[in-house]
Amino acid sequence: MSKILFTFLIKIFLFLVLFIQCSGGSDDNDLKGYLQEESIIPDYDNDPIYSKANARNLTSFWDIFVESASLYGKDLSNITDIEFVSEADLAGGTAARALGSCHDYVKIQVDETVFRNLTLGEQLFLMYHEFGHDVFNASHDGGGLMAPNVRSVEYTLFQREVEDFFTGVDYIEWTDEECDIIRELLKTETQ
Ligand SMILES: [Zn+2]
Repeated sequence: MSKILFTFLIKIFLFLVLFIQCSGGSDDNDLKGYLQEESIIPDYDNDPIYSKANARNLTSFWDIFVESASLYGKDLSNITDIEFVSEADLAGGTAARALGSCHDYVKIQVDETVFRNLTLGEQLFLMYHEFGHDVFNASHDGGGLMAPNVRSVEYTLFQREVEDFFTGVDYIEWTDEECDIIRELLKTETQ
């Protein structure tokens, strides 16, 4: 009789041990899932739009800009006159320049060697900046995306600057007078 009771107790003990281990195991899995979820930090590389960028296909940056603008209700699909001009040794080691400011076309001059050596964030910042000049005639005065210096831009900050730009928070257009001067400068430079 005591032997049967002993066996019974052993069984209960084993059952409890197994039960505790199993529930402990599923807690671990929950925790792992949670940690994995947390480890995916949004960045340029895993962003659904920015990750389409290809430095060897500059048009991909235009497509990204158009898609990005559409998120804020800006439809740029009617702009079809877009040109990238490859130019080595731009003044001051610049990677890109906007030649379509105050004109109804987009024309970006790019030193492709310098451009390819930038990080993806820098490439995006630079292209958004130049498109900002050509598409919206935005001046440097607005700051944010239109601040004049190319710099390494942290992803979250860049997202905020893009939003501020497309929602008109921080962009200021060239004045008509400034546009006259710019058109003259571009005329003499590209002759
Ligand atoms: Zn600029």
